[in-house]
Amino acid sequence: MTPFERRTETAQAALEDVGADALVCVPGRTLQYLTGFDEPQRDRHLLLVVPQTGEPAAFLPALSAAQFRAETWIREVEPWADDADPVAALSNFFDDRSVPAAPHLLVDDTMWATFLQDVRSVRPDATIGLASEVVADLRIRKDDTELDALRRASAAADRALRDVRALGADAVGLTEAELAARIESSLTAAGGEALSFDTIVGAGPNGAMPHHTHGDRVIRAGEPVVLDFGTRVDGYPSDQTRTLVFDADPDERVRAVHEVVRRAQEAAVDAVEPGVTAAAVDDAARSVIEAAGYGDAFVHRTGHGVGLDVHEPPNIAAGNDTELRSGMAFSVEPGIYLDDEFGVRIEDLVIVTESGCERLNHTPRGWEC
Ligand code: ZN
Ligand code: ZN
Repeated sequence: MTPFERRTETAQAALEDVGADALVCVPGRTLQYLTGFDEPQRDRHLLLVVPQTGEPAAFLPALSAAQFRAETWIREVEPWADDADPVAALSNFFDDRSVPAAPHLLVDDTMWATFLQDVRSVRPDATIGLASEVVADLRIRKDDTELDALRRASAAADRALRDVRALGADAVGLTEAELAARIESSLTAAGGEALSFDTIVGAGPNGAMPHHTHGDRVIRAGEPVVLDFGTRVDGYPSDQTRTLVFDADPDERVRAVHEVVRRAQEAAVDAVEPGVTAAAVDDAARSVIEAAGYGDAFVHRTGHGVGLDVHEPPNIAAGNDTELRSGMAFSVEPGIYLDDEFGVRIEDLVIVTESGCERLNHTPRGWEC
């Protein structure tokens, strides 16, 4: 049995637990999680109905049928042609699949409203919930296939980071955009398939803006540069941040702030083990930064879950009482941002194990190149 079939079986058991008749997925993360099919939602109806028991079945445009059969394990595939009325075809499909007259359906959270209206029109007495009611609990704990992909994606990020450090003084004089392009080609050379997100290279004051991507600022010797990047391997992303200083030692203030962030990150990673709350991990980092007097400059949560989505549950944030369990994967990325001066952020991905935590990134966390 493939991991996809296993996940689908688990989802079906969860449907029974919540009294739902079926899951109705459109192209997106749920469908990718259950079948491996990785396409965006488009204008033609493409649905996977996963009943509480029995075979899942796909209703899809004829032009996608061969691809769907080739790329997924789904055995029941019902194509509809471009000259057919898609709503009438959907109605027939629901009848053929014995979807009851008044089903309780869990539809994909990201299903377009236009598609949902058509589902409602063919089953006006349906009650509708969200697929995340059952799928979120599955996705939050990664299986071995997912953990393996996350490890390999992080290894690619580590390799790119080593390439950046190897630039040393050669990084000085590059623009942020030029350094970002070098990082991206390193990620590709390391086996990356696609960027996890827009590569961040924030030099000097630009590093004080956590979501600055990269621009035409020229990197100077001795100034801190926030580098935050990742790539996907087998669909799963890496996400690593280091704050480096090229070609000269930074001033005392930069060193001190960097040291605080390192200690905060270390404290948070040390706090990760099963049974601890997400909020406690956030607090471990935050209390170090607050004690150093920079509490107001740590303007975001300590981390985010990572899986098919770069940002997904669990949020490592104050107020989140979710207890960590083995197989959860998330970032630990405290930062200090001093407006108009500089920023420092240090980020690694970690996996919760049976007894503690596994770090996925293994490059040095200091500013030295
Ligand atoms: Zn990041
Ligand atoms: Zn992150």
